[in-house]
Amino acid sequence: YDQPPKNIDMIKRRQAHLGGSILFYHEPVHIVRGEGVWLYDAEGKRYLDCYNNVASVGHCHPKVVAALTEQAATLNTHTRYLHENVIDYAEELTALMPDPLSVCMFVCSGTEANELAMRIARTVTGKRGAIVMENSYHGNSTLIDELSTVAHPDPQTRPAHVVGIEPPNTYRGPFTDIGDENVSNRYANLVDDAIDKLENNGEGVAAFMCDTIFDTQGSLEAPKDYFKKVYHKVRQAGGLCIADEVQPGLCRTGKWWGFEHYDVIPDIVTLGKPMGDGHPLAIVVTSQEIAERFSQQAYYFNTFGGNPVSCAVGRSVLHICKEEKLVDNCHNVGAYFRKQLEILALKHPVIGDIRGKGLFLGIELVKDRNTKEPYPELAAKIPDAMKQQGILMGMTGRYGNMLKVRPPLIFKEAHADLVAEALDRVLTLLTQ
Ligand code: PMP
Repeated sequence: YDQPPKNIDMIKRRQAHLGGSILFYHEPVHIVRGEGVWLYDAEGKRYLDCYNNVASVGHCHPKVVAALTEQAATLNTHTRYLHENVIDYAEELTALMPDPLSVCMFVCSGTEANELAMRIARTVTGKRGAIVMENSYHGNSTLIDELSTVAHPDPQTRPAHVVGIEPPNTYRGPFTDIGDENVSNRYANLVDDAIDKLENNGEGVAAFMCDTIFDTQGSLEAPKDYFKKVYHKVRQAGGLCIADEVQPGLCRTGKWWGFEHYDVIPDIVTLGKPMGDGHPLAIVVTSQEIAERFSQQAYYFNTFGGNPVSCAVGRSVLHICKEEKLVDNCHNVGAYFRKQLEILALKHPVIGDIRGKGLFLGIELVKDRNTKEPYPELAAKIPDAMKQQGILMGMTGRYGNMLKVRPPLIFKEAHADLVAEALDRVLTLLTQ
């Protein structure tokens, strides 16, 4: 890039006065409006949004906007009064969860949900240790940053209460033979050493925390029974199993919640990003028994979590998911999308693998399909090139070579076609 980005003044002002947040693209986009699956920049250019699980039911869904504005015009306050919205929402949300997950604790971000989940696990088990995946991301508070191994790749420098295990990556992990019936055992057995380590160093196992779509590990599909086996081992060691559903939760994977693909019931579920269609709303869901054991031993209050406006928004999002049959939509459009990407892979040998579930897809780029050598240099160019084609998408993964496709849940087949056609053009251009 020999030209400075267009919005250089805005970028400079942002650099001068904003800490911490990361901008995308060589030339960051200045988005001023959103509608459904579309985003519009300040010059009126339209982009198809393929990187957004916050605007879950679509940007500015009119029913969500109406629910929010009506409640905001009636009452918003802290959470120490009775209000129907919070009770209705908790009832409606837990009705979508298996027994015994029947109690909600409302918070404002995924980080806060995971922080509270860990606090509950530590309080209830009397232990401190956590087992997480290598290359995991769970949030930004002090404890949850420690559990986010993506930010602390060297195990030697981690605190004693955090142990990382290899994620079940059957494409390029330590065990890749998916025909091998033992592959789930082999990955699940990695938990044994983690448990031993925490027991021997005196921390003990408070929790196993895992994102069930393995976003930062590159949209992995765990082998059958992997979670069942891991959950069993963790519970035997006295720990609780926390499903971080901040990414896969709410229809995206073709089921309401990602853990349902694996036929397990977590002790604690954490929900965030998509639940409020852009409004900050996150939830910890657990059993009555665990919630009671926690509240007997701990003081917990949250000023904003579960306020009347947030709960009006959350309910309206759930209603839309049901009315617009978004579980089925994610399943069907996701399968169609995957098919189009598989067709693309016939033409582009740099596509080494396509993984994921529903509308959460990862495309792994390689230099050579036999050696599977990652191709991060190519992956790094694709978001900018796709942006020029009017499509916003991201990249991720342990080796920086995964393209991430994670559009709003209302994506349709015609949108998937637009992405596949643009990706075809971009890959052709960049690999010639
Ligand atoms: N868990 C996962 C799996 C996430 O991807 C994220 C956010 N990227 C979080 C937790 C943290 O959520 P938040 O940014 O709302 O704190």
